[in-house]
Amino acid sequence: MHYYEVAPTAIIRPGTDTFTYSSELALSIGEIVVIPVGKKSYNGVVINISSKPKFETKDITTTTGKILPKQTLELLSWIAKYYNSPLATCLQMAIPPGLHKKRRNKEINTEIHPRKRTNILFTPDQNEAINTVNNNDPGTFILHGVTGSGKTDVYIELAKKTVAQDKSCLILVPEIALTSQIISEFSNHFDNILVIHSSLTEADRHNTWQAILSSDKPQVIIGARSALFSPLKKIGLIVLDESHESSYKQEQAPRYSSLRVATVLGKLHDAKVVFGSATPSISELYMAQKAKRPIITMKESAVKQEVSSDVSLIDMTKRNNFKKHRFISDKLLQEIENNLSKGSQTLIFHNRRGNASTTLCSSCGWTSICPRCYVPYTLHSDTHQLKCHICSNTEKIPNHCPECQNADIIFKGYGTKLIESEISKIFPEANIARFDADNKEIETLRSRYSELYSGEIDIIIGTQIVAKGLDLPKLGTVGVIQADSGLALPDFGTIERNFQLLTQVIGRVGRNNTINSVVIQTYQPTHPSIAFGINKDYDGFYKYALEQRKLSKFPPFTHLLKLTTSYKTEASAIKAARSLNLKLKKILHPDVTVLGPVPAFYERQFGNYRWQLVLKSPRREYLLDVIDSVPTNNWQYEIDPTSLL
Ligand SMILES: [Zn+2]
Ligand SMILES: [Zn+2]
Repeated sequence: MHYYEVAPTAIIRPGTDTFTYSSELALSIGEIVVIPVGKKSYNGVVINISSKPKFETKDITTTTGKILPKQTLELLSWIAKYYNSPLATCLQMAIPPGLHKKRRNKEINTEIHPRKRTNILFTPDQNEAINTVNNNDPGTFILHGVTGSGKTDVYIELAKKTVAQDKSCLILVPEIALTSQIISEFSNHFDNILVIHSSLTEADRHNTWQAILSSDKPQVIIGARSALFSPLKKIGLIVLDESHESSYKQEQAPRYSSLRVATVLGKLHDAKVVFGSATPSISELYMAQKAKRPIITMKESAVKQEVSSDVSLIDMTKRNNFKKHRFISDKLLQEIENNLSKGSQTLIFHNRRGNASTTLCSSCGWTSICPRCYVPYTLHSDTHQLKCHICSNTEKIPNHCPECQNADIIFKGYGTKLIESEISKIFPEANIARFDADNKEIETLRSRYSELYSGEIDIIIGTQIVAKGLDLPKLGTVGVIQADSGLALPDFGTIERNFQLLTQVIGRVGRNNTINSVVIQTYQPTHPSIAFGINKDYDGFYKYALEQRKLSKFPPFTHLLKLTTSYKTEASAIKAARSLNLKLKKILHPDVTVLGPVPAFYERQFGNYRWQLVLKSPRREYLLDVIDSVPTNNWQYEIDPTSLL
C-alpha cells in the first residue's frame, strides 16, 4: 500500500491544505486524483509521498491519469504562501472544471484573421531590445516602449528564437478584446497558436488544457492572466503586454498579481520574462531600478513620422469652446467633420457608461440611488432603465419624483450611450459604433475587429476598452470628452491610472503617416496627470508621482494590507471592524500603522455594509502574519492591493 498527501481542490477544513490517503497504485507527485470526503467526492492533487500514518486512511477512489507539471505545482504552492491563501483556491486555477467528463477529441477552436505582411524590418530600438533580452541571463526585463514603437514585433522575434530552442512561449494580454489583434500578428509567423481566456466554453478550455498537457512540442499560447496556469512543461519566454493594466491583478482570491506570478514561473522554468508597456507601473519600474534588473527603452516610433499629432487642450470651464454642443467642443466637432469628408476614423473616449450619471428632481433635489449600494443610478435610455453599476440592480425611469410628486425629473452628467446618440444626431450619415461593458457579444471589439481595422466604422465611441492597444490604421483623431473625470476617486493610484489611460488613448493616433489630431477636453488642464500625459512625458510624470508616493508613504515605499468586513447591518460591520482593530493593536509589529476603521469607499454593496482597515508596513512579512488573525467569516483580505476603493 502507498500513502500520499493529497490536496483537495475545494476547501474541506479551513487551515488544512492536505489530507493523507492510501492507494494500491503507485502515483506521481502532481497526479490529479478523485478522493472521497465524507459522502462526497472531490478532485485532488497528489502533493507528497507519505509514510503509513497512525490513523485510519481512506483509499483514493481513482486517478485521472493526468499529472500537473512540477513547475505548475510549485507555482501554486508559492502563490498559496505568498498571498496566504488556501492551496485549494490556488489549485482551482490550474485544473479545468469538468475534468471527469468523457469527451470526444475535437478540433480546438483558434481564431485566425490573416493579414498580409512582409518580413519585419527592425528599427535600431527594436534590434537593441531583442539583443538585450537574448544576450542576458533568464530573468525579468522591463520593455518600456512608447506606443507605436513596435513592441509586438519584438515579442514575435523573441518567440521565434524560443520555439527554435524547443521551448514554449506564453504571451499574455490584458483584455480578451485585444487577443484578435495579437493573434492576427502572431499567426503570420506561427502555426497552431493556442488561445486561452475566460470566455472559452468548458469543452474548449478542457480540450486546450488537454492538448497542452499531452504535447511534447513547443507551444505558443496567447491568453489572459489565467494562461499562467497552463500545464506547460518547458517555458522559455513569458510576455506580459501592456503590463501596467489593472486586469493583471486578479480581484478574487487568491488576489494575485500576474507580474509576481510570471516572475516566479519564469524562475521555475529558467525563462525570460518581459513586461512590455508604454507606461510601466511606477512601483514596478522603481523596483526594477532598485534590483538593477534590465530596463529596455524604445523611444522611437516604428513608423517614420513625417507629421506629428496636432494636440488641442480644450478648457471645459470656458463655455465659448462649446458653442455648438454642451459637452462636445466645437474643435472636436470640426475634426469629426474633417475625418468624415476624407474617410478617416475618429475615436472618442469617455470612461462612463450609460446616458446620464445622475437622475434628480428639479424641485426638491431628490436623487435616485441604488437602495443596495447607495450610489447614484445611471440612466440607460435605450432600455428605459436606471441601472446600478455596482450590483446591476435596475429600476424603471420614474415619471415623477417619489418624494414631492414633481414631474420635472432631470438627468445630469453624460455617458457613452448619450455621446453616441448625440453624435448620431449631428452626423446622421456616419457609421458609429460604441464599445463598453453594455455591449452584447456580437457588438464587441472582438467580433467587429475587421470593420474597425478596415475603417468601415467612422466613429468609435467607448470606455477604457477602446484606449488599450488597439491598432487602427485609418484613425485620424482621438477625442477625450473629459480627461479629469477619473480623478475624483480618493485612491493612491488614481493619478497614475489617469496618466496611463490618457497616454494610451493619445497613442492610438500617429501610427500611420497621415495627418492626425488629438482633442483633450478637461476642467483641469494643469493637472499633472493631464499635463504630463499630453506631452507624452513619462519620465517627468514618473519623478512627480514617485515623489508623491514617498511623501504619502504608499507603494513602492510601503506594503499594504486591506481588510474589509461586510455585514447586513451597519452596527455589526462597525463592531467587527473595531474589535479586529483592538485585537490587531495587541499583536501588530510596532512599525505597522493602521488606517481606520473607516467605512469603505463603496460603503454599501449588494445590500451589505462594508468597513475597512488598511495596514501599512515597511516589511511585507509583518502583514502576512496579520492575516492569520483575521476571522474567516465576514472578512476579506487583500495583500498588495492596487486600489483602496
Ligand atoms: Zn422632488
Ligand atoms: Zn447596487
